[in-house]
Amino acid sequence: MSISRVLRRPFEVALDFALPPRCAGCGAVTAAVGLFCPVCWPQLDFLGGGCQRCGLPLEATAADTCGGCLADPGPLDRIRAAVAYGEQARSLVLRLKYGRKTALARTMAGYMQRPLGELHPDALLVPVPLHRWRLWSRGFNQAQLIAAALTRLSGRPNDPFVLQRTRQTPKLKGMSGAERRAAVQGAFALRPEVNVAGRHLVLVDDVYTTGSTADACARLLKRKGAASVELLAWTRVVAPARIG
Ligand SMILES: [Zn+2]
Ligand SMILES: [Zn+2]
Repeated sequence: MSISRVLRRPFEVALDFALPPRCAGCGAVTAAVGLFCPVCWPQLDFLGGGCQRCGLPLEATAADTCGGCLADPGPLDRIRAAVAYGEQARSLVLRLKYGRKTALARTMAGYMQRPLGELHPDALLVPVPLHRWRLWSRGFNQAQLIAAALTRLSGRPNDPFVLQRTRQTPKLKGMSGAERRAAVQGAFALRPEVNVAGRHLVLVDDVYTTGSTADACARLLKRKGAASVELLAWTRVVAPARIG
């Protein structure tokens, strides 16, 4: 992080109060902080209903659990996201992560409160960690910013020090399911002083794609005795179902 960025921060905070709130999508002036304008709002595909476990849309024949979860439930007890992955949802992710528009974490968290209500009420929010080198180069972990914003909005506790990423993982894009699983195998560890036995945990991340990263975290936490591990993301890939 450059010195100019550090020095600029107090002024940015001050400007947040002085300037009118703007649409998180296009920057148009809106009535309140963290809202989308009438043009951007319809471009977001808000998720709800679906499989009680993975949250994906159900076939007409399915009751409350989809065929994929019945055949292979996976280590996550529930998966929820605010919106389906699309242009607008992706734009927020990229501007938060690479454009350093950290206020967008609050916008995302605002829309993640409703799906959070479907998860375990006593769960601890656990952001998916970055490797320390990536944390150092980016200056922040976007998942941790979102979890902290969720705590401020909902009062649910979060702990960014439960999990650590013990090695860098390659970009998973373009890999097969088996390759992804191999790439994240053993990449996470519990911090030595942490005990998750009997705890309910909600992993928090910005994007949920094939789930190999979240699955690796969930398997580790379950092995260490967690009572339940659920996942909450700002956005998720909805189709095709269970690609990894
Ligand atoms: Zn807009
Ligand atoms: Zn399912």
